[in-house]
Amino acid sequence: MVRNFDVQRQQLISSLYQSGINDQRVLNAMANIPRELFIGESLSYAAYADSALPIDEGQTISQPLIVAAMTQALQLSGQERVLEIGTGSGYQTAILARLARHVYSVERYPLLSYQAARRLARLRIWNASLFVGDGSAGWPAEAPYERIIVTASAPSLPSPLLEQLLDEGIMVIPIGNQQKQSLEVIHLHGQEIRSRSLGRCVFVPLVGEGGWREGK
Ligand code: SAH
Repeated sequence: MVRNFDVQRQQLISSLYQSGINDQRVLNAMANIPRELFIGESLSYAAYADSALPIDEGQTISQPLIVAAMTQALQLSGQERVLEIGTGSGYQTAILARLARHVYSVERYPLLSYQAARRLARLRIWNASLFVGDGSAGWPAEAPYERIIVTASAPSLPSPLLEQLLDEGIMVIPIGNQQKQSLEVIHLHGQEIRSRSLGRCVFVPLVGEGGWREGK
């Protein structure tokens, strides 16, 4: 069946705008990344529903409104080096890559990282580097970063991530228990850490040293 993804994508962008996403650069980036490429073909009919969808390894591709809100909160100008924890499908990675200088993205499942790498190459996105490992420790070799985005939920702010964030940097991270979290936006000003919440959210757990233990 032929589906008009372009029309559906435009409708999604309008609904994101109506939901308060007013950063035109974020909307443009999302209007230019085909979400259908980041999910299995059997689910592509739902590519532009504003909901999270299952991907391999029991993980999820985040809901578009959450992707948009997190990206908007990062206030990207195009010059930043961004650390992303939880590559997953690579959808958020692709959007970040269009809005920042370089994205460093860490995923714990090799299969997901491999699939994401193929999708990014297909879209000719070359300013993203992927790494397989425990992202709750960050990616120290490439640190520090102007921005950090964590797309899996943590019980508390992992200290290695804070250490890898530059002064005046911004980090977005869901913090809470495994059932629900608060989407926290953290601004670092010297010794001072200011945080505000974008609201409630539900993410898959960040599994690792600075997150949840496997199987719990
Ligand atoms: N931004 C992704 C979200 C994927 S879900 C998308 O929209 O597709 C969150 C991802 O975080 C999952 O793929 C999960 O495997 C990964 N993850 C969980 N704990 C991790 C850890 N400690 N290090 C790296 N990735 C982790």
